[in-house]
Amino acid sequence: MSEPLELKKTLNLPKTDFPMKASLPLNEPKQLEAWQEADLYQKILHARAGKPLFVLHDGPPYPTGTIHLGTGLNKILKDLIVKTKSMAGHYAPYVPGWDCHGLPIETQVEKELGGKGKVAPAEFRKLCRAFANRYVEQHKKDFKRLGVFGRWNDPYLTMSFDYEATIANAFLDFMEQGYVYRGRKPVYWCLFDSTALAEAEVEYEDHVSPSIWVKFAVVGGGKNEAAKIGNDVSAVIWTTTPWTIPHNRGLAFHPDYEYAVVQTEKGKLLLAADRVAALQSECEIKQAEILGAYKGRDFEGMKFQHPFLSIQVPGILADYVTLDQGSGIVHTAPGHGTDDFNTGQRYGLEVYAPLDDKGVYTEGLPEYKGKDVFTANPIIVKLLADRGALLGHHSYKHSYPHCWRCHNPVIFRATDVQAQLPALLALPQSGDFPGYRAVVHRHGCDSASRQGEPFHRWQEVFARGSAGRNSQCQMDSWLGRRAHLRND
Ligand SMILES: [Zn+2]
Repeated sequence: MSEPLELKKTLNLPKTDFPMKASLPLNEPKQLEAWQEADLYQKILHARAGKPLFVLHDGPPYPTGTIHLGTGLNKILKDLIVKTKSMAGHYAPYVPGWDCHGLPIETQVEKELGGKGKVAPAEFRKLCRAFANRYVEQHKKDFKRLGVFGRWNDPYLTMSFDYEATIANAFLDFMEQGYVYRGRKPVYWCLFDSTALAEAEVEYEDHVSPSIWVKFAVVGGGKNEAAKIGNDVSAVIWTTTPWTIPHNRGLAFHPDYEYAVVQTEKGKLLLAADRVAALQSECEIKQAEILGAYKGRDFEGMKFQHPFLSIQVPGILADYVTLDQGSGIVHTAPGHGTDDFNTGQRYGLEVYAPLDDKGVYTEGLPEYKGKDVFTANPIIVKLLADRGALLGHHSYKHSYPHCWRCHNPVIFRATDVQAQLPALLALPQSGDFPGYRAVVHRHGCDSASRQGEPFHRWQEVFARGSAGRNSQCQMDSWLGRRAHLRND
């Protein structure tokens, strides 16, 4: 029997040392090392010296762990752009950077520690800095392995003292030019984590809220026909946050809508003409005879009696009032909503939100003072019913903002820097900033001589982020820069 035919021998193939298998996991590191040793990145830059500049400003990642596919894709795409520009004849340096401040780092460190408040703030900041450093180094390794070229030995880090000093310096410029003022502003707030949340840290989930229709009796005022409305009439508002009723400081009307006073078995009620049918079905009102029609703009400045507090709140105008839901009159609590806040600012309304970080009322009637807002919801509904101001009450399932970390419902709460950064206020006293007082004094912002804005703003400037707060070096660097700029 003849030998079986060996097909390979019948082919006329070129002879080569090139391996049949790529073995990339083995070979790529060797190639990268060779490029590194040859200082290829610098050579490319050198070859393009004097050519038109192209700079890709890299939005920095958070150094919170090893890179994932998203971080990898992001860096590879950017590297493609930089290399393409370089090949097209540009001088295209690439300076990688990392965002080392803020919640993402703090959350990871808290996880490692096993919870919030496990160590003193100064120690916590040290740990955050170390954590950020650790993952900057890890990222560097990972990005280099992806073949990304850049100034890896000298990246920009938002926690570097030089970087912070530049921010502080710019801020001082704004302050000296009078562009800085102190104010309050409503932010998303998690009662369970006692922290403000950025817009991006809020997730919408289904939530069942109480839905209530509430009467605010007319006191008087108003313009044109509206001025003739007597105090036997009540304006109607609708809300899903009964707990904000104590902080109501106005009723918003749409200037162009038609409003009507209707005679019902629950009294004479004022609301948008197009919402009368909705009111009837939601509040089980059988009869609604229209007594008069009015323009929204005529209610500006009219006074209404708060249902259980001895205050009167004004009629105000706002174009975000819609006819999709509610009564066409919007309950306005400037301490608890962006629209409310902005309209409130326009009318000079008080930004009233006396809640502590756990969402507990620090002021108010004994019925709800000392309770948290979610516990207070049914209490306030009962209070309204007892005062004869509750027209309707249902459960309402809707999409509501929740905390991304603990998945509890969040609230909108006016807060200021002191409230957000309580630990920070202790810093100048705690010796974290040995040079702090001297600087503050030098710029005429001494806390004793000018109590208020500048002093606290300084605290904010030097508090940016968790990782870079405690350093004499930071102050020295800042002072040096400032002096340098002044001398120029
Ligand atoms: Zn939370």
